[in-house]
Amino acid sequence: MVSLSTQLKKRGKFMSNMQSWKQNVGSIINYAERIFPEVEIVSRALSGEIVKSNYGQVAKRAKKLGSSLEAYGIKHGQNVGSLALNTYRNMEMYYGISGMGAVMHTINFRLHPEQVVYIINHAENRIIFLETVFAPLLEAIQANCPTVEKYVLLCSKEEMPETTLKDAISYEEFIDDGDESYEWPELEEDAPCGLCYTSGTTGNPKGVLYSHKSTLLHAWAGSSANGLGLDKDDSILMVVPMFHVMGWGLPYIGAMNGIKLVLPGMGMDGAALVELIEKEKVTLAFGVPTIWLGLLNYCKENSITLNTVKQTVIGGSAVPYAMIKQFDEEHGVNVVQGWGMTETSPLATANIKTKEMEALPKEELYKLQTKQGKPVFGVELKIIDDDGNKLPEDGEAYGKLMIRGPWINKRYYKHDSDAVDKDGWFDTGDISSIDPDGYMTIVDRAKDVIKSGGEWISSVDLENAAQSHPDVMQACVIGVAHPKWDERPVLLVVPANEKKDKDSIYAFLEDKIAKWWKPDDIVFVEELPIGATGKVLKIELREKFKDHLMK
Ligand code: ADP
Repeated sequence: MVSLSTQLKKRGKFMSNMQSWKQNVGSIINYAERIFPEVEIVSRALSGEIVKSNYGQVAKRAKKLGSSLEAYGIKHGQNVGSLALNTYRNMEMYYGISGMGAVMHTINFRLHPEQVVYIINHAENRIIFLETVFAPLLEAIQANCPTVEKYVLLCSKEEMPETTLKDAISYEEFIDDGDESYEWPELEEDAPCGLCYTSGTTGNPKGVLYSHKSTLLHAWAGSSANGLGLDKDDSILMVVPMFHVMGWGLPYIGAMNGIKLVLPGMGMDGAALVELIEKEKVTLAFGVPTIWLGLLNYCKENSITLNTVKQTVIGGSAVPYAMIKQFDEEHGVNVVQGWGMTETSPLATANIKTKEMEALPKEELYKLQTKQGKPVFGVELKIIDDDGNKLPEDGEAYGKLMIRGPWINKRYYKHDSDAVDKDGWFDTGDISSIDPDGYMTIVDRAKDVIKSGGEWISSVDLENAAQSHPDVMQACVIGVAHPKWDERPVLLVVPANEKKDKDSIYAFLEDKIAKWWKPDDIVFVEELPIGATGKVLKIELREKFKDHLMK
């Protein structure tokens, strides 16, 4: 008898007989067009008007865009730049650009113009799509962006502003001659489809180049039971910007599952968001903590309850205990915390509410929800010490958080060497613990952790404790140089009312933190500087307060 391995060898290789499928993000929108054409994509236009599209229309217009780009001469693998808000046209670009074989290169318009110039040059963009409001920004820098030969403004011919941008045309004219039954070309599954640069608080921004395969796998993981907590009938408010980490994969996840998307455009203030939530019966909302802080305050001041919303998925920085509690007590909204980064597509862990969690007393539940969650299938995590030794997952030990998986960055765009070690582990730059149940908790970003007399203090934990004080709206803890202890914590507080009582905050913290964690000072500030991705810019605060404890 011929052995199985010989039979397989005869057939060629040790391979299965299943079909190989060239994964292409274009296939996602084709599916949505066929199966969920009527499911709505609702956007707020620049005019403030609420505009309705759906997956069927997005698919057709994406194909018109793809064929127009091909006719223009854009080649596979070329990066097409965009400075765009969350709207249906951005959805069309996600599919039209990637589907035709080019790379959807999202540019964060909140970055410093010098960084925008760096990114455009580094990505060698030939075409840039932009909202009309960003025309002045690009007009001011276009002389420094020699690779760009054409600017497409996201508007109709009638809405075209006066502009000096090179070879400028409106989006509607650009796609006008396109073919709505254009067929996506067959692409290699490892071919690039998206490009996003990290914010680059230190050094130049670095590009992460996503593939069709990584994007599809990530979208499947996000759709899974341990993913992003979706329900088929959800109406999703995407406050996460589509220019940052491919909108957390939601443009793909929405289309894959036929879920309604609500896109807020420029309207990120409390009133605009509440209007969208109420009109579009939003059930699930995605965003970073600073956005929700603003929304919760707005609701409180105006006695508004978010009646339709069931869950909110929050990530990007640690979600304070007080926010989880407020969402639940005042709005009946469950908070799912997620953790990830540009380099991880971004979904890596999520804290999905389980039956067991529902049975917990509220205080314990909220505490558990301050953890960043369990890894979704496909992502491997470990924590290591400074010598690279694996640390126990006992919920106590903490060290560098390492990650690997099929949607994790291996090498930054155009870098000469890999960003992972020989076993494929990527160093996240975060310090974490992992508990026996698999929950990962971020102790701090490595660069934010406070090193006091050789011991570490978690700024995240301190902020969490302080933020629960009723007179504290927002808390931020930074390490400040100290003559004896190297660094000591200083707590910056944005007050919730006129009361600015340091003693009351110190007394409140007493039984919540170790004695030696007590901040050396509490400083009341009007606001905290927020960076391009909605996070508090600790680097700026450290600079500002660097001599604060030296006096
Ligand atoms: P940026 O460009 O702003 O650095 P990233 O999204 O890549 O954007 O930032 C990723 C980092 O954000 C993570 O390494 C981590 O430090 C932080 N982060 C993301 N989600 C969370 C979370 N849920 N809790 C704490 N920190 C988080």
